[in-house]
Order: sequence, then structure tokens, then C-alpha cells
Amino acid sequence: MTDKSTKLYGRASKVMVGGVSSPVRAFKAVGGTPRFIAKGRGSHIWDADGKRYTDYVCSWGALVLGHADPRVLAHVARSMRKGTSFGASTEEEVLLAEKICSALPSVEKVRFVNSGTEATMSAARVARGYTARPKLVKFEGCYHGHADQFLTKAGSGLATFDLPASAGVTEGSIADTVTLPYNDLESVEAEFRKEGDKIAGVIVEPVAGNMGVVPPADGFLQKLRKECTDSGAVLIFDEVITGFRVGPRGAQGLYRVEPDLTTLGKIIGGGFPVGAYGGKKEIMEKLSPDGPVYQAGTLSGNPVAMAAGLKTLEALGAREYSKLEALSKALAEGIDAAASKASVDVCVNRVGSMTGLFFSRGPVRNYADAKKSDAAAYRRFFWSMLESGVYFAPSAYETAFVSVAHSDADVQRTVRAAEKALGGLADR
Ligand SMILES: *Cc1c(COP(=O)(O)O)cnc(C)c1O
Repeated sequence: MTDKSTKLYGRASKVMVGGVSSPVRAFKAVGGTPRFIAKGRGSHIWDADGKRYTDYVCSWGALVLGHADPRVLAHVARSMRKGTSFGASTEEEVLLAEKICSALPSVEKVRFVNSGTEATMSAARVARGYTARPKLVKFEGCYHGHADQFLTKAGSGLATFDLPASAGVTEGSIADTVTLPYNDLESVEAEFRKEGDKIAGVIVEPVAGNMGVVPPADGFLQKLRKECTDSGAVLIFDEVITGFRVGPRGAQGLYRVEPDLTTLGKIIGGGFPVGAYGGKKEIMEKLSPDGPVYQAGTLSGNPVAMAAGLKTLEALGAREYSKLEALSKALAEGIDAAASKASVDVCVNRVGSMTGLFFSRGPVRNYADAKKSDAAAYRRFFWSMLESGVYFAPSAYETAFVSVAHSDADVQRTVRAAEKALGGLADR
């Protein structure tokens, strides 16, 4: 039964572009009618027709504690009763900033914004303001939000000519963006040899989570660190997904590489719209009001959102991270075993509570590898899982997230559903 979702989608499509507020939600990559979600609790969501799903989207990774965590809800309610926005500073944002700075030693000062997109866009601006250089290096298959300068695709081969990946993005706005293949140390070196003195910064997802999950190759992040240090460029880790997810100190703690700037989002908002960027004092102090780089926001540091983020981070300790690791390991291994049993090629990449499934033999080390995944197979897998009550992302190039609210039983049920789905694929 999908009557209510179907009706809502019909109404939404009349008044909202594609019936959605963000494109992947429209299910275009998997076909069919998107489910409208009525409520969530713990590891589960319920659609408008009352069907329950075990959720591995978790608001695209934001809900590390799961849905409607009672501690977060209670603190948010307390905060709301005191007013919802002042456009002035509050204690709650100081507390969250202190929490972030103490968790991430590379972050000495932080600025709150309202989304990951704003964080990366502003981090790039401050990197350029600090270095007085124009170029920004990014990597193919990494997503840094939808600011113009990031919406590029690499041309054929290595760092050649970038083309806009979206209509409405001018060649001018990406003229200073260079896109290199992920995990390719040689092309990084070549780019720095070629125009290192023009490179303001390098931005990277230290674990790529927007082309499925692609971990950094040995030495890749270290190489970026070294080239940036040698040339005076700013190394930006986009930890909008990985921050407070792959460990208490993010990917920078896991791989022991210190960036100059870090961008955050998702988890630090506890389910509210929050982003942040921060890093070395001398770079961040280039920002207005201390310095000449402008960036502002009416609702930035919103007290209700800060309250949600603060309670979320407070609830994350060693026990929670080991639980996330164990659950995610069981999920990844279970699906891997199910694929072997069904003789379906699935390459499972995992870092902490981020799991990526590629319907290909693998290994998947970059975007070109990721693209070899069989999209039609993912579509069938997705629908079979959905029917079994498991909500994976409606696109093949996303991450499956577990939350602290997931249970062993959830994962076991999911693996059984995957056995069925993959068995079905093998039968065709
Ligand atoms: C989600 C995401 C963003 C953009 O964040 P929004 O809040 O959606 O604007 C940026 N970088 C990475 C790595 C992301 O996963």
C-alpha cells in the first residue's frame, strides 16, 4: 500500500519542483514513487501509509543517534521555550564551539553556518583570502555541496579542462577549480609542480562518501598534507559526513592527518540545519569581523539547532563508537557473505559506520571505479530491500549509515533481506 505517499507525491509534484526539496529524494535513480515519511523513532521510519522500515539513510548521516532521540528532543524543547532565534550570541553556541574545538585539535576557531554547502563555500573563500591565491583543487566523485565553484566534472584524463556539471554555472565561476582523480598521488604532485604557487587550497572528503564509500589510499591524505605545507596552500578536510561519525576526532583523527581547515555539518546539527567551518586561528581570523573575508548569516548559530547538536555530541562516547563499528561491520560482512552465496558481484567498502555497496567486482578506489557499478542491479536490490522493510538510499552512489539506535536484530533482519534481494538478482 502506497496510496498516501502516491497522493502526496502527486500534490507535491504540482507545487514543488520534482515533488521534492532535494533531488535524490525523487527516486529518479531507482524509479517508482518516493515514500513520504510520517515519523521516525530510533532505527526506524514509518511512511505515510504506515509501513515501517529500518533506516540506513538516517537523514543522510545526520542522525547518528537515530530518530527522535529523547535526550535531544528534551533539550530542544527546553531551548525552544526560551525563544527560537535572536540574531545575537547565545551560551549554547559557545558550548558547541568549545565541544568541536576540543574534539578536533586542528580546529582552534570555528564559525557556524546553516548547511554543509555554506561551510565548504565559505572555507574556500577564507582559504583564498588567506593565501591571496585563486585556485582550488578538488577530487572527482567528492561532493562539497552545491556552490558554483564545486559543480564541475573533470574532462577526460587527468587535470585537464573542467566543464560545468550543472546548467547555470558559468565557465568563469569554475575557471579556478581543478578536479583530480581521487586517491591519485601522481596527479596531485603534477598539479602542484605545474601551478603550486596559484593553489589557494585543496578540498577533499577524507573518506569519500558521495560516490558510495571510498576510503583514502595509503599515503593519499599524507601526500595532500605535504604538498599543501610545502606550497603554502590550505588543506581543507570536508568532514560534513565523517565528522563525529568515523570516530570522535573524525577522519583526521582516524588517519592522523591534520588539515588546516575542517568543514562540518550533518551530525553537528543533530537533525537541524547546521554547518560549521573552522581551523587554524591565523586562517580563521581572516574572517569578518576580525579580518577582510566576509561571511554572515541571519540564522547562523541558531540556538535550537545548537541545542540539538550539543546534546548529540554529548551522547557520543567510546561505547557509542564501538557499537557503531560493530553494527556496521556485521552489516558489511553480512551483505558481503550474502553476495558471495548468491554469486553476485558486490564490492563492499566500509569505514566505521559508513558502508558502501558497489554492484561490481571492485576494487573501488575512485570515481571511475565507482561508475562501473551496475545501476540496474542496485535498482532491483533497492526495491527488494524496500519491500522487505529496509530503507537504503534511493541511489547507487550513496552511503548506508547505521546509528547508535540500530540493534543487532536490525542488522540481522537487514542481512536476511539482502540474502533474499541478492538471491533474486542471481535468479535473473
Ligand atoms: C552533505 C554534504 C555537503 C553539503 O551539505 P548540505 O548540508 O547538504 O549543504 C558537503 N560536503 C559533504 C561531504 C557532504 O556529504
